[in-house]
This record gives sequence, C-alpha cells and structure tokens, in this order.
Amino acid sequence: PFEVLVVGGGPAGASAAIYAARKGIRTGIVAERFGGQVMDTMAIENFISVKATEGPKLVAGLEEHVREYDVDIMTGARVVSVTPADVVGGYARVELSNGAHVLSRSVIVATGARWREMNVPGEKEYRGRGVAYCPHCDGPLFKGKRVAVVGGGNSGIEAAIDLAGIVEHVTVLEFGKQLRADEVLQRKARSLPNVEIITEAQTTEVVGNGERVTALTYTDRATDESHTLELAGVFVQIGLVPNAEFLQHTAQLTPRGELIVNERGEASEIGLFGCGDVTNSPYKQIIIAMGSGATAALSAFDYLIRTPQP
Ligand code: FAD
Repeated sequence: PFEVLVVGGGPAGASAAIYAARKGIRTGIVAERFGGQVMDTMAIENFISVKATEGPKLVAGLEEHVREYDVDIMTGARVVSVTPADVVGGYARVELSNGAHVLSRSVIVATGARWREMNVPGEKEYRGRGVAYCPHCDGPLFKGKRVAVVGGGNSGIEAAIDLAGIVEHVTVLEFGKQLRADEVLQRKARSLPNVEIITEAQTTEVVGNGERVTALTYTDRATDESHTLELAGVFVQIGLVPNAEFLQHTAQLTPRGELIVNERGEASEIGLFGCGDVTNSPYKQIIIAMGSGATAALSAFDYLIRTPQP
C-alpha cells in the first residue's frame, strides 16, 4: 500500500508526486496518460522562467522529473472509484478500470478537466474531421476557410480573435442574449471585419458529407427559425468539465462538478486531497495547477505525520 497515491499525471499530479516523494514517503501515481491537457497545447508562453515552450515538450519534462524519484507510476488505467478511509489514518481503496485496486493512506486527486461537448448530432462523428476544441492546435488546419465558434465566453471570443487571423471568416454563436466574454475581448472581436457574432443561437446539428464537416445548423431562439451556415470547421468553446464524476458519491463537489478543496487542498473526506483544474480553484493554469499540487502534497504529508498507522 501507498502513503500517498496521486490520481492524474498533468502538471498538478506531477508536482504533487514530486513533493510527496521528496518527503521519503511511499508514493504512487495513477494516470490515464501522462500530461493531460498540456499534451493538447501548442504554445505555452506563461510558464514563468520559460519564455516559450510547447505542450508535449513540457509533458516530457514533467515525466522526466517524476521519474527522477522513487514513484510507482501506473499509466494506462483510469480510477473508477475511491472509497475514503473510514478512520483517521486508515486506508482509502482506489479501484482502477483494469479491475485492480490500490490502497493508500492518502489520495490526491489531480484529474484535471476536459472540453464540454455540445451533444448534437454530427459532433462525435466529425470530431477531428471539422469539429475541433483547441484553436491553438487546430486553427491552422482551417487556413482560408469559414468556421464557427460555438460559445461566447472568454474562451470562445479568444478563439474567434485568434482564428480571425488565420481563417477566411468566423461566426460566433452564443446561446444567451449577450456574450459572456470580458468587454475588452468583445470590443476586439467586434472590430475585426471577418468576425460575425450571432446571439440567441442554439446549435442543432453538425452537418457533413461523410468525410468532413460542410455546415452547421442552429435555431434562432428569438424567432424559432432554423438557419444553416456553410463552413469547414466548428470550434466548440462552451467550457471545461472537471474529471470528477468518479467522486460523485464520495466527496463534496460544486454544482459544476468540481471537487471542493480548502486553501490547503483538503477535500471533504478523511485523507482525500485535490489540486489543479479538477478542483474549485478560480483560475485554470499550469503554474497554478503545479502550485496547488505542491500544497496538496505538503498537506497530505502533514496529515500522515499526525495520524497513527493503521
Ligand atoms: P490536466 O492537465 O487535465 O491533467 C489531468 C490528468 O489526469 C491527466 O494525466 C489525465 O490522463 C488524468 N486523468 C483524468 N481522469 C482520470 C482518471 N479517472 N483516472 C486516472 N487518471 C485520470 N495553461 C497555461 O498556464 N498556459 C497555457 O498556455 C495554456 N494553454 C492551454 C491550451 C489548451 C488547448 C488547454 C486545453 C489548456 C491550456 N492551459 C494553459 C490550461 C492548462 O493546460 C491546465 O490548467 C492544466 O493542464 C491543468 O493541470 P491538471 O494537472 O490539473 O490537469
């Protein structure tokens, strides 16, 4: 059994594992894959002290750093449930998707988040064939073509501004009456000649020719009329979903499904900690995820030295 089991191999999990291992306690890490969202990121320019890097490069660095320490690394498996210890200092039981289970006196959840999907016909079918979630990664594939961005929050408007410099035309579809993005971003988007913003638009279908996306249909919620946009790409920017479903019946989550932790990274259950994008932390960034990973590991260590061995 472990003293600290980290679930997740992104920036938060890697940081937590390194901080725990440096205390000389038995540390394990279970991750579906090393890297998480960073793997899907091209340019990273705000990881302080590194002027510019790329996601896969940063991930290689994370993994290399974790492997410097005596950490048991289990990749390729998902955690499907966590049963917290029933007494202080006791063992939590962590079930994996491959049928195995792992015992640990503390568990640090660092499972990150994923893009929210529209759940309309055609979206899954054309994922990677016109339906995209990451403008930084896939924007250049639509050079000179027409695209739509679904979602008028900060990420949607940022995506529209970003894409406007690459593609022929961008249509932003916002479900609500108004955009939700910061005023400064809205102003910038409206100043661009090849960006059009449509509000009260409910996306209804991604249409394709069997090979690639060719159009998008939406309903104007004010008039109930259906419209079709001919285009080559659809960027879905309607938010991030925390990967915390496996904790639904275990720990306290926010209404948005984020694991609730305090400023020490402690969750609602004995020996359970959380860090990074899966938690209710206000900003979702690499540097913040790493900092919170360190906090959670130090809190887990504090917990372990104060509680009796089972
Ligand atoms: P993640 O990176 O999401 O890692 C989660 C880990 O958990 C993964 O290893 C995953 O495989 C694993 N996992 C998930 N569920 C399970 C499970 N049930 N069992 C086992 N393992 C599981 N931030 C910046 O600071 N700068 C940027 O420039 C930047 N650009 C971005 C661009 C894009 C396209 C995206 C998507 C994000 C970007 N971010 C950026 C945000 C940044 O990537 C995240 O804040 C950061 O990766 C969060 O780290 P994390 O460790 O909490 O989660």
